[in-house]
Amino acid sequence: MAEVVVVTGGSRGIGAATARLAAERGYAVCVNYLYNQEAAHEVVDSIIQAGGRAIAVAADISLEDDVLHLFQTVDEKLGRLMALVNNAGILEQQRRVDELDAARLNRVFAANVTGSFLCAREAVKRMSTKYGGVGGAIVNVSSVAARLGSPGEYVDYAASKGAIDSLTIGLAKEVAAEGIRVNGVRPGFIYTDIHASGGEPDRIERIKSAVPIQRGGQAVEVAQAILWLLSAEASYTTGSFIDIAGGK
Ligand code: NAP
Repeated sequence: MAEVVVVTGGSRGIGAATARLAAERGYAVCVNYLYNQEAAHEVVDSIIQAGGRAIAVAADISLEDDVLHLFQTVDEKLGRLMALVNNAGILEQQRRVDELDAARLNRVFAANVTGSFLCAREAVKRMSTKYGGVGGAIVNVSSVAARLGSPGEYVDYAASKGAIDSLTIGLAKEVAAEGIRVNGVRPGFIYTDIHASGGEPDRIERIKSAVPIQRGGQAVEVAQAILWLLSAEASYTTGSFIDIAGGK
């Protein structure tokens, strides 16, 4: 029986690459998405065509009812959850802190922080030996922004990723004795659509010469680290982080 993984924000970018690689490695995959049904179904169709198992589930992870629906659908359609990739995340137009308003801060923190907490909660309820589960693994997708701070671009986003790092450290300790490992990846400068949300689709071209490795990264290079952290090869690794940012 294939292990079941939920990838939030699995329709595009790092999430889509993770969903595809997880299927290649034998997981049954739930591809969560927000609005982009076409992209989510493209990922699911490519997995099914390759002989894998996948479903697409629309859910806004910042909303509690949507998260409950997401995980209930996985229970019904795929079976026992063994892995969660807390990947969905947003950023908004590049701004200084003195230009940010409460509405924007609430949107960014709701999607990036509240959403990851709610999904982690539902995963723990299914995987923890405390609740009759058999264990599992969670990977939280943070960012090197958590330690670089993203000045002049989006300090709010960076701070939300700092919260994800704290979630990773704290939850890892909380559930380590219940069979669940919790780790984080901190990508940076990956070619995806997210930079367009900041108002600069070609952002990586501007900054890549300042990255020690002298190029941007590909989504699959992040997916490979995520899949390692989920796997039994990482069986003694919890509360840890892998930076995937070309040495920055
Ligand atoms: P992306 O290409 O913009 O894709 C974002 C994904 O998240 C999409 O699948 C989107 O769904 C989904 N999503 C957004 N808000 C959601 C919500 N409220 N509920 C459910 N799904 C939601 O982003 P990406 O670059 O792959 O980023 C993925 C993760 O990596 C994020 O956490 C991001 O912060 C992190 N990261 C990225 C980089 C980078 O350089 N790209 C660097 C560091 C960290 P729809 O398709 O339906 O819109």
